Amino acid sequence: MSGFIQEKVRLTPVRERVDVVVAGAGPAGIGAAVAASRCGAKTLLVERLGFLGGMLTSGGVRNMRTFTDGAGQAIIKGLPYEFAQYLKENGAAVGVPEKDPYVQQNPELTRYLAQEFVLKSGVRLLLHTLVVAAVKKGNRVCGVIVESKSGRQAILARVVVDCTADGDVCRQAGAKMKKGPVMPLTLTFSLKDVDAWPDVRTLKIYQAFRRHRKVYPLPSHSLALFALPEKGEVYANVTRVFGDASKVEDLTRAEIEGKRQVMRAIEFYRKYLPGYQQAKLKSFGIEIGTRESWRLAGRYTLTRRDVLSGRDFPDAVARAAYGIDIHNSHGPGGIMIHLKPGTSYAIPYRCLLPEKVEGLLVAGRCLSASRQALGSLRVMVTCMATGQAAGVAAALAAREKVVPSRLNISRLQEHLLRQGVIL
Ligand SMILES: Cc1cc2nc3c(=O)[nH]c(=O)nc-3n(C[C@H](O)[C@H](O)[C@H](O)COP(=O)(O)OP(=O)(O)OC[C@H]3O[C@@H](n4cnc5c(N)ncnc54)[C@H](O)[C@@H]3O)c2cc1C
Repeated sequence: MSGFIQEKVRLTPVRERVDVVVAGAGPAGIGAAVAASRCGAKTLLVERLGFLGGMLTSGGVRNMRTFTDGAGQAIIKGLPYEFAQYLKENGAAVGVPEKDPYVQQNPELTRYLAQEFVLKSGVRLLLHTLVVAAVKKGNRVCGVIVESKSGRQAILARVVVDCTADGDVCRQAGAKMKKGPVMPLTLTFSLKDVDAWPDVRTLKIYQAFRRHRKVYPLPSHSLALFALPEKGEVYANVTRVFGDASKVEDLTRAEIEGKRQVMRAIEFYRKYLPGYQQAKLKSFGIEIGTRESWRLAGRYTLTRRDVLSGRDFPDAVARAAYGIDIHNSHGPGGIMIHLKPGTSYAIPYRCLLPEKVEGLLVAGRCLSASRQALGSLRVMVTCMATGQAAGVAAALAAREKVVPSRLNISRLQEHLLRQGVIL
């Protein structure tokens, strides 16, 4: 920073009043907006980019995890399950949620289908719009300030749901937040003209990788290549840029370095991996992917022990079963602790509630969890499930004219169960 300037005091026009405004249209935001609208709330979904999906689409993250407890028992139904089925029926996903470790989706088609899925629930969209401030009366959030090509405007709402993944609205509203070391950023990419398809994980390829690892030009530890349904195409999640996504300088460097790493990786594959000699870049992720940044320090903080012991809570609003998957902040490797097959844990409503700020709910990657617990619940299916819970809670609170922290938990759970959610 080099000093400050004094901006003029200004009058901000009120664009509209709604029951529920959802900030951010990733898996959590989609879940929250659709759930709120289906409960009868007048709902507006505000998204910084020109399309929906968050990491599903802008990050090019293909594998939606995790619907089961690893022992064949479904732990997620409700909206994430319905969304996955919708993608499958429309040719944008493959995999069986009840059986496979993940459902693999096609980000290009998902960009279209996510918008249709959301619109048919009655949600209205505001795209190319950044939420830049919270509107507050005392300790209660009662709307957001947005900026777009139309200028700076206010949207007033009975309840605001923060699904920005970085807790933007929470921070703007002064909620208590946490951020420690963060996992590396990754630019995903897809390849075409791979002859080894669909055997991307064959022993031959791994042996070749191990043999030539000394000259592998990336700080990654593994050959995270996944065959795609399209013949000869492969999805790669192998780049690693160390940095903090809440700092624009780091994001800028990561976008530049991420693309350089992709090109170096392709050179390596073409030279050393059998079947990759003709491989070519098909597409970059639209933007660098973030795994971790700010998290809410809410009314309850989910812990590693809760996750590993499969803890239940009386105010459960979603379940999850993915292991603790943390990529090292500096250097290769990381930890992956799988949950015992048959284990799943509950996410309590209190993880969605800031401590001293009312009128605000949080879902997705920025909800209240320790670093280790976040390593598990950050996956997209879980984020969407927490979004659904926040959306229903927001709609009920708006209808009953109470703040979300005063909502009757049993009634919230009844609504979720009626929507097919497993608690
Ligand atoms: C490289 C990588 C690989 C991954 N692999 C997997 C995997 O295999 N399986 C899996 O299930 N998960 C995976 N994840 C994790 C998962 O993708 C994310 O944790 C998940 O998408 C988080 O969902 P979300 O809705 O909370 O946030 P996001 O998906 O990040 O969506 C947030 C949305 O909010 C918008 N937004 C942000 N700030 C604002 C603002 N101020 N105003 C308006 N809009 C805003 C963004 O544009 C975005 O659309 C991976 C993540 C990365 C980065």
